[in-house]
Amino acid sequence: PVTPATGNAYHILFFLWLYLVMLTGNIGLVLLSKEKSDRILTRAATYDELTDLYNRRAFFLRAKECISFCARQKIPISFLIMDLDHFKKINDFYGHMMGDLVLKNFASTLKKQLRGYDVLGRIGGEEFTALLPGVGEREAYGIAQRVRSSVEGTAVNHTIKYTVSIGVSTLVPNENTTIDHLYRLGDHALYQAKQNGRNQVCAAKAD
Ligand code: GH3
Ligand code: MG
Ligand code: MG
Repeated sequence: PVTPATGNAYHILFFLWLYLVMLTGNIGLVLLSKEKSDRILTRAATYDELTDLYNRRAFFLRAKECISFCARQKIPISFLIMDLDHFKKINDFYGHMMGDLVLKNFASTLKKQLRGYDVLGRIGGEEFTALLPGVGEREAYGIAQRVRSSVEGTAVNHTIKYTVSIGVSTLVPNENTTIDHLYRLGDHALYQAKQNGRNQVCAAKAD
């Protein structure tokens, strides 16, 4: 029989149950939104906001993996370092916003010209890099020329013309090969391309 005392106990149990349901529901919501914000943070730490390419840190991390993959497979790897020419003048003449549009345009040209498993990065203001696993010296030079000439044939917003200089380095890596080594060779070649008058591709001498 339901006496006032047992009725009270049922009430208490009911409210306790309700409270637990609400508590677990809330914990679930908090966990879900934490997972979402974690994903956003990881994305922000990996990709460059403007171009959606890997940022500097992520590029160098991916590069390490890519080089050791090629070392295990005993296949060549090529590195492209690309610097937009006289970019400061573009900013000065058209403004920083337009400069940003040019950077985005270059990034999308790169994505179009390269393959899905190439590693692409924006490592500085107007400096971009690409690692091409399995690509030898001649092929890399051809790819870099394709990027260069595609940029040359573009007018951003139908008005802004720009050019890019590219340094290329290639080697068959072993387990001691570092991205720093490929980078130094490529950067030296890029310097040559700038010295020779810009809007050109220069390949590092194989060492
Ligand atoms: P060079 O042909 O020798 O490479 O000349 P440059 O003018 O491209 O080189 P410099 O290093 O003198 O100038 C790079 C410019 O890039 C200066 C800086 O204001 C601009 N820059 C860097 N980051 C950004 C960015 O995120 N957006 C825009 N719009 N400009 C940027
Ligand atoms: Mg630069
Ligand atoms: Mg530049």
